Amino acid sequence: MRIPFFTRNETLENAEEATVVQSVPRIAIIGAGAGGSSAAFWISKAKERYGLSVEIDVYERETYIGGRSTIVYPYSNTSLPPLEVGASIFVSANKNIWRASDEFNLTRREFDQGGQTGVWDGEELLFSFGDGWWHTVKAILRFGMLAPRRTEQIVGTVIKQFLTLYTLEAPKWDDIADLAASLGFSDLIQSTTANYFVKGGVSKRFAFEVVEAATRVNYGQNLDEIHGLGGAASMGATGAKGILGGNFQVFEQFLKHSGANVHLKTEVASISEISSPSRQWVVKSASGTVNYQAVILAAPFHSSGINLPPSLASSIPEQPYVRLHVTLLTTTSPTPDPAYFGLSAGAVLPNMTLTTHEGVRNGRKEPEFNSLSYHGLVRDGEWAVKIFSKERLSDQWLSKMFLGQVGWVHRKEWDAYPKLTPTSTFPPLKLDRGFYYVNAFEPFISTMETETIASRNIVDLLLNEEFDSGICGPRLSATDLPKNHTTASSDKEFVFGWDC
Ligand SMILES: Cc1cc2nc3c(=O)[nH]c(=O)nc-3n(C[C@H](O)[C@H](O)[C@H](O)COP(=O)(O)OP(=O)(O)OC[C@H]3O[C@@H](n4cnc5c(N)ncnc54)[C@H](O)[C@@H]3O)c2cc1C
Repeated sequence: MRIPFFTRNETLENAEEATVVQSVPRIAIIGAGAGGSSAAFWISKAKERYGLSVEIDVYERETYIGGRSTIVYPYSNTSLPPLEVGASIFVSANKNIWRASDEFNLTRREFDQGGQTGVWDGEELLFSFGDGWWHTVKAILRFGMLAPRRTEQIVGTVIKQFLTLYTLEAPKWDDIADLAASLGFSDLIQSTTANYFVKGGVSKRFAFEVVEAATRVNYGQNLDEIHGLGGAASMGATGAKGILGGNFQVFEQFLKHSGANVHLKTEVASISEISSPSRQWVVKSASGTVNYQAVILAAPFHSSGINLPPSLASSIPEQPYVRLHVTLLTTTSPTPDPAYFGLSAGAVLPNMTLTTHEGVRNGRKEPEFNSLSYHGLVRDGEWAVKIFSKERLSDQWLSKMFLGQVGWVHRKEWDAYPKLTPTSTFPPLKLDRGFYYVNAFEPFISTMETETIASRNIVDLLLNEEFDSGICGPRLSATDLPKNHTTASSDKEFVFGWDC
């Protein structure tokens, strides 16, 4: 199939014939999720500000924009509120998404439905607390004052450092380990959350009951498996928001504003290099073969199915991802089955049930799910529920859990996020000249926001390297400030890349 907007002889049958010199340089972006859509947006900022002349083509194998951020309507009924199947929340410290929602007139909504949060160990509901759960008096009685306070200090320090990424002085990095070092995160990233938090004065009980509940719902990983940054990010979700109608709209708007040519249902099969008459990257997709001056890969390489020259493919280390089952359903039962949790009929159950691995460590049964949460009414008398689990939950299991009152069910399996194993090394973000890899950032941290930061950095490196340009003007070195900035970065509203 010929890509409709390509004219002249630019769509070629095979790489050997790819000798056409294109009048306007082209950049290919593979993936239309948070990383790819924001990459297109950042490039368009350089076009708008400095007259950079490039065409951007975005390839996406799915039929929709958003990647791991996507929605579904209960019963496929668009008059009911949609539910997030993947990424659900962001916070005010996520300044790119926050700013995008303002600029694109998208409405932020509270994510938290209020009510009780409980922690289940597989055999026993250890506790449940009300709104602001680990700050409540009941929580203080169980854990003391010190552990929540120490946790807040750790998380606060991480967020403060993270926010420097939005200032004019934000570091530019070509190695993620260097970024970790410049943010003071090396120890955090090389330790398990368990070790880092306990060493930081958080009691073991709080760590393994509360922090672990957060790492299991946010990253499907236990406290002694996940690195400290994953743990801190999991605990930094206070004040969580989502976009009314679905977070994917941010990514749709990035692409719309970028002016990129977006090709849905167009899987990229291979990327190779030719050196004559000039060095070009040859992208082969379901729609044909096109030459590019630069390529941005914005999808996890090992699940992309893309064929790369062996020397490039072998430079990207294997990256295990957490296989996660998301089950969305509606039910007319206002709570799960109390008997499942060893409670008497009529007992009030938490709105959100999180889990800990502590039971297993003490010889108990493993929880059958990572989290189970009610997400408000879809219509009178019918609630939406979201369950994360390691294994598929059968119809019988769901029926028992919701007292035979299940309406609609939707299941999705994801390679959700990398296993955030403690590490001191990361995949290369520059694979070769003019060829960059956004998802190298994911083993450091995997969120919608951080993918937009990873792409900002990559676009800046790429534009400097190939086009003597940048999102905020050319930068000669990592310590060099961008030229032509218009706003003082001491301004609280300043967001690097948006305001320059
Ligand atoms: C269940 C779940 C819950 C999550 N919760 C949150 C949350 O609450 N908050 C948060 O911030 N993050 C959350 N995340 C993580 C977040 O979704 C990811 O970090 C982020 O969306 C990744 O964006 P990305 O653009 O890098 O990758 P993706 O969103 O995976 O986008 C990559 C795109 O590339 C496409 N692609 C792959 N191969 C090819 C190919 N060969 N050719 C063409 N296209 C290709 C894919 O179809 C995909 O659309 C969650 C993830 C999951 C799965």
